Amino acid sequence: MSILTIKYCLDPVLRKKCAPVENIDGDLVTLSADMIETMYAAPGSGLAANQVGISSRIIVVDIGAGTDKPNPVTIINPEITASEDKILGEEGCLSIPEIFAEVKRAKRIEIKGVDLNGKDVRYETEDHVARAFQHEMDHLNGKLFWDMMSKIKRDILKRKFKKILKEVQKK
Ligand SMILES: [Zn+2]
Repeated sequence: MSILTIKYCLDPVLRKKCAPVENIDGDLVTLSADMIETMYAAPGSGLAANQVGISSRIIVVDIGAGTDKPNPVTIINPEITASEDKILGEEGCLSIPEIFAEVKRAKRIEIKGVDLNGKDVRYETEDHVARAFQHEMDHLNGKLFWDMMSKIKRDILKRKFKKILKEVQKK
């Protein structure tokens, strides 16, 4: 397993809609393991394949996040099939380091897809984990969490991010 480089938000790969996975092979199994390792190393509780430069519909989320039992799951070709209630909560993104903002998301969701064995999977989640799934789904569709904010707010965060990026690149 290896830790992959996480792409920053200005990378065009994060603005492209990811393509559905047609078949599950050894490379995909390796990618999933590497994504999980990369997610925990960051540290974060979710990661989409395009965040490591692969424009395919694969996400990993720690459904045990917030508990003392980590439980990383991989979902291929995920779809949110139901959502309920809206809730504001603080959100960050591994592609936009050190920037956090309040984002309104569904409180509860149902998500479906297939696992690495090609078997149908379905998760009903709420709060933090539901938020992580919605955030990663947005990535697959080329969206970033600040797209949901007003332009003024987004521009402030973007300026802040560019400053942080300069500091990171100086190191
Ligand atoms: Zn993100």
